[in-house]
Amino acid sequence: MTMQQTQQIWLKEVECPLCYEEFMTENIWQGKIAVVEEYPDLGKKYSGLNPLYYSVWVCPNCLYADLRGDDFTTTGKLNDEDFENDYKILKLVAGKTDFTQARTFPAAITSYKLAILTAKHKKTSVAKIGTFNMRLAWLYRSLKKDKQEAKFIAYALKFYLEAFTTEDEPDFGNMSQGGITYLLGELYRRTGNARQAVNFFQKVVNDKALNSEPKYMKMARLGWESLKDAPQAQEEEDDSQEESPSKEESSDQSE
Ligand SMILES: [Zn+2]
Repeated sequence: MTMQQTQQIWLKEVECPLCYEEFMTENIWQGKIAVVEEYPDLGKKYSGLNPLYYSVWVCPNCLYADLRGDDFTTTGKLNDEDFENDYKILKLVAGKTDFTQARTFPAAITSYKLAILTAKHKKTSVAKIGTFNMRLAWLYRSLKKDKQEAKFIAYALKFYLEAFTTEDEPDFGNMSQGGITYLLGELYRRTGNARQAVNFFQKVVNDKALNSEPKYMKMARLGWESLKDAPQAQEEEDDSQEESPSKEESSDQSE
């Protein structure tokens, strides 16, 4: 499957800001994206092409990877030498993926994993690493790979929380304070922590300082409502201590 321009895909020549390799990459016409459904964790179901396949550009030469556009061209605090020293690891992650070919599901997954490694070198906000993990969860969901989805949801929660609690200006992309507070509640709900989920949903609804958008107010009310009878959720008044996200790797769930 070679890369080619179609009615949905346009090709762009990009220069790697690190090794100056010039390469072609696929992009999806925004107007061709068709959303069928939005999930409570803000992931989307698409009919036809999934834009998540194309949102990370990867240099086929040095495996530097980041979100398309400005994020890709800005190298931040990345140190060339350290990055080169990690080439073996990057290569291991990339495996046989050929980034000069059309994007497949495995190539899309690999592109995000390379973006996570690159982000660590760029010392970008850990919120962005949360977002890459979130997108990996959504990608696995699109193929109904539940166990993988759950694993990356737990990672997204871990990194988002770290950013939320330790960074002054976490990079949650376009997401507002109300939005990220809601999303944390939803990720807690999905990972089975009803008490913290209710905590965050309540904040979205009741904390005026957050100035939450009506969309998130409504979704938080629905999430809160769905947990009314969860045994854990009853104890929410006990203390408001933050629990650290579970350290264990994704627990074994039956598929
Ligand atoms: Zn490069």
